[in-house]
Amino acid sequence: MNLCNSRLSVTFVRQCSTIFTSGILQNKCRLSSCSSSSSTQRNMSSGQRGSRDSSGSSGSAGSAGTAGAGGAIPFQHPHCDRAAMYEQPVRKMRTKGGTYDYDLVVIGGGSAGLACAKEAVLNGARVACLDFVKPTPTLGTKWGVGGTCVNVGCIPKKLMHQASLLGEAVHEAAAYGWNVDDKIKPDWSKLVQSVQNHIKSVNWVTRVDLRDKKVEYINGLGSFVDAHTMLAKLKSSERTITAQNFVIAVGGRPRYPDIPGAVEHGITSDDLFSLDREPGKTLVVGAGYIGLECAGFLKGLGYEPTVMVRSIVLRGFDQQMAELVASSMEERGIPFLRKSVPLSVEKQDDGKLLVKYKNTETGEEAEELFDTVLWAIGRKGLVEDLNLSNAGVSVQKDKIPVDSQETTNVPNIYAVGDIIYGKPELTPVAVLAGRLLARRLYGGATQRMDYNDVATTVFTPLEYACVGLSEEDAVKQYGEDEVEVFHGYYKPTEFFIPQKSVRYCYLKAVAERHGDQRVYGLHYLGPVAGEVIQGFAAALKSGLTVNTLMNTVGIHPTTAEEFTRLSITKRSGLDPTPASCCS
Ligand code: FAD
Repeated sequence: MNLCNSRLSVTFVRQCSTIFTSGILQNKCRLSSCSSSSSTQRNMSSGQRGSRDSSGSSGSAGSAGTAGAGGAIPFQHPHCDRAAMYEQPVRKMRTKGGTYDYDLVVIGGGSAGLACAKEAVLNGARVACLDFVKPTPTLGTKWGVGGTCVNVGCIPKKLMHQASLLGEAVHEAAAYGWNVDDKIKPDWSKLVQSVQNHIKSVNWVTRVDLRDKKVEYINGLGSFVDAHTMLAKLKSSERTITAQNFVIAVGGRPRYPDIPGAVEHGITSDDLFSLDREPGKTLVVGAGYIGLECAGFLKGLGYEPTVMVRSIVLRGFDQQMAELVASSMEERGIPFLRKSVPLSVEKQDDGKLLVKYKNTETGEEAEELFDTVLWAIGRKGLVEDLNLSNAGVSVQKDKIPVDSQETTNVPNIYAVGDIIYGKPELTPVAVLAGRLLARRLYGGATQRMDYNDVATTVFTPLEYACVGLSEEDAVKQYGEDEVEVFHGYYKPTEFFIPQKSVRYCYLKAVAERHGDQRVYGLHYLGPVAGEVIQGFAAALKSGLTVNTLMNTVGIHPTTAEEFTRLSITKRSGLDPTPASCCS
């Protein structure tokens, strides 16, 4: 049974508490979540906008035993007694470096922090994990433990993407002979409630999981007093915590532009997934993947997004693919205001937002009314509250530089996830880096995180997935004469009956031109792109060559098989549009 998708109810929480009391929760409520492959998920209560972490203050999720010193005491379930759960005394422990409350304190209970904290406990460390979410400046939206991915990132985004795809599928169903009522329309508040219900279930199970795994969860904002001491600001008190090691995993939050009305009237992705009204006509400012994805699902749900682009679309991605994504969105009726920047946002008497903006090339100014303005202009690292200077930790452009072992310039302080400087900001990267760091710190392991060839997907809702180098990066790295690009358009079976354009299924393999023809990068635009590229990512990491790719037998009829038939090179100038699907 897919418990993640099952309906939520307060009844379930009661049942879960009962099961927990009887000590068999581990068997009844185990599911996977974003923070760890072995973590748990389950339902909690019906959702409302701006969910709150219900914990109040610190939650001692572990036993009072000194697991880190090797003297693990069997974990006693606290039988859901809040006092017992949250007020376990901390026993000072003697470690190599001195006497500390913990071996490790992790600051940030998101993908990276949770993975690191749980793995450290598994390897015998005594660990506390602090997590605190500051409300958004415009709407005061807050959420529970689990970080960006589960609360305001990958998961709500993918759920809304799915909602949008379903709407599209219903329309396409008519072409397949389904009698579909033309007047189908989405119910935004129901969608938001379903999404928030799911998120609350994950928050709940994350906390249960931390308790099970003996990580002490502290719902507090951490700031350094010195390199071994942290001050945790709790709901109505403060607590000083000492540790031999610290892992900073505080992630980031969306930026706001410095223009009049931006904070008062604009929202960000942190507010969108729990917005208590329909977004309506929405100006999405920013054409990174978050902006495009939000615009994409809003359009799919029947709203009117416009995308404002300052310079280029999907910076950092292959630009040919990025432009294909943008043109597919434009073809779906999403206007792109290119080379434009916002100047101000003013609220009108009728509640509409007047946005004044400027074309950066012509200098021409214009204005337009919107119901919602969504800032998607990038994210900043949450270094401000940490008082990093007290611990002597260096900062670079609101991120923390680390070496290849995720160590900061202070030897007992590490950083993982979105907060580190110059690395991919993705959940699986954060999780693996956090887990590997914990294994190195407490498990005697030596494996380091490999940040190269990380696969990713943009859901607009047309999906674009890639792994490895973009065409331009391969050319920059190896020179144009040494790079061969194999490419082709393809008409997947999904496109036949609804008569969808072949222009929006395109594949590209960027490879070495001579020798073994090692594949440097794979790019795919089309249905279920993320699912297609994931397996190829493993092949690419294992040294995939063009020869191996061409000698792999495809699965017919799929779009993924097209990668095994890419024979036209860009250099040849031959037409990459398909003549037939099956030869
Ligand atoms: P976070 O998950 O942000 O966790 C950090 C936690 O620390 C937060 O709870 C924060 O409130 C807390 N914190 C901050 N400061 C303090 C402090 N001083 N004391 C205590 N706690 C503190 N990635 C993907 O791989 N795939 C996707 O499809 C995808 N989609 C996304 C869509 C959106 C809209 C967004 C915004 C992000 C998306 N991401 C996606 C990125 C992904 O969510 C992040 O890479 C990931 O969550 C980073 O994890 P983290 O642990 O580094 O930080």
